[in-house]
Amino acid sequence: MIQTDVLVLGGLSGITAGISCRRHYPDKKVVLVRKEGTVLIPCGIPYIYGTVGGPQYNVIPDGLLESNDIELVKSEAVNVDREKKIVKLIDGETISYDKLVFATGSLPAVPPIPGVDKKNVYPIRKDFDYLGDVFEEMKCVEDIVIIGGGFIGVEFADECRKGREVNITVVEALPHCLQMALDDEFCAEAQETLSETGINILVGSKVDAILGNDTVTSVRLSDGTVLKADMVILGIGAVPNTELAEKSGLELGLNKAIKVDRHMQSYTDSDVFACGDCAEKQSFFNGRPINVMLASIATAEARIAGANLYSPVHHNNGAISVFSTVVNGRAFAVAGLTERLTKEYGMNIVIGRHQSPDTHPGGMPDSTVTKVKLIFAKETGVVMGGAISGGRSVGEMINVVSACIMHKMTANDIVQFQMGTHPALTSSPIAYPIVNAACKAVLPIRE
Ligand SMILES: Cc1cc2nc3c(=O)[nH]c(=O)nc-3n(C[C@H](O)[C@H](O)[C@H](O)COP(=O)(O)OP(=O)(O)OC[C@H]3O[C@@H](n4cnc5c(N)ncnc54)[C@H](O)[C@@H]3O)c2cc1C
Repeated sequence: MIQTDVLVLGGLSGITAGISCRRHYPDKKVVLVRKEGTVLIPCGIPYIYGTVGGPQYNVIPDGLLESNDIELVKSEAVNVDREKKIVKLIDGETISYDKLVFATGSLPAVPPIPGVDKKNVYPIRKDFDYLGDVFEEMKCVEDIVIIGGGFIGVEFADECRKGREVNITVVEALPHCLQMALDDEFCAEAQETLSETGINILVGSKVDAILGNDTVTSVRLSDGTVLKADMVILGIGAVPNTELAEKSGLELGLNKAIKVDRHMQSYTDSDVFACGDCAEKQSFFNGRPINVMLASIATAEARIAGANLYSPVHHNNGAISVFSTVVNGRAFAVAGLTERLTKEYGMNIVIGRHQSPDTHPGGMPDSTVTKVKLIFAKETGVVMGGAISGGRSVGEMINVVSACIMHKMTANDIVQFQMGTHPALTSSPIAYPIVNAACKAVLPIRE
């Protein structure tokens, strides 16, 4: 039997929880068990098929564990005896623990479409060998249908076309791609940008059957249209991977995610913590359970969980939901609530918008127009959300917006920002888009 103080089950958020524990409790022994031999950078998965050119170029190095003195056991945990505090692995080995962290992540959602189990129909599993097989198979296909136009489907579509002669169709049931994440004007811009690549986008369409004998040959839409397909990629979301947690008697919440408190401690057992996609999320805005799975949330929760194992240090204020994506070279990002969500919540809002080039003058090389939309609560002036499209700078600009949301800053606060600017690196200090969007909201908030 292996003995440890802290046992972590998982990958991305597991590593982060382990490192956080090491920083806070340098004397504790930490063991991490994970199923895969090699762990992928999950957000980089679509880029395996285009930009980076293979799964081997998209891995989280195990050196990170070694340098933090975390022992790695490559195996699968199959049983947890919480009374005896012993975890059993698939090969029969056992590990005793003092504190246990579930970071078992999520699994791809597989819709009950007839034919979904045919060969060459691929849910996106975060598995190195499996995705390597998809990479090899993709070399021989001509017609790829991607079911789901969320960010995973859109990123796959954009990447799979790179360096290949393939016909790609994205089938999305909602009126726009990316509609779960972005407001309509940004969805429309992203969709138009994607369609410029020649990718066929069918919105308001549903696949009702995947056809072929053993292997897929086509898909049928609910309006009867048949699309040729020798590969189908499913990008329709994920579900928490909590079978083991359930078997261990841990209380589950929304979508069977592990119920945790603000310290990431499970409701059921004070020595068991959970973080990442397997843990239930509360909205930053109203505290209600929400179904959102992002690396930004998973790693923040993992830092909190690792720090709190022996004594509460950090408090989880809830999921803000900040993420960014790139479509045909243009970046789209969002933090907090969209206009659509504020309307669903019945909020009175004021919107401030501004656009400007991300260099000054705008004639600098690689200058890109950045569009910012900020959403404020009318009564308080507090920023509730923001969305940005533009060039590479969008990735960090949206993180600024996320920080503003987290600290409940008002339009008036943001107006007073002193943004560092440089001609080649940022928008002009006169036209800085986040500040100017806030400036434009100040009067309507006061009215
Ligand atoms: C294609 C794709 C692109 C994405 N892009 C983005 C993005 O750009 N930005 C963003 O914020 N988020 C993105 N996400 C979401 C993000 O990847 C997840 O939120 C993140 O991976 C969650 O991390 P996690 O550690 O909780 O779970 P996971 O990454 O799912 O890791 C769970 C780990 O636990 C292991 N495990 C499970 N059960 C056991 C067991 N019984 N024993 C041992 N090990 C076990 C698994 O094998 C796995 O290694 C993307 C997701 C996908 C699929």
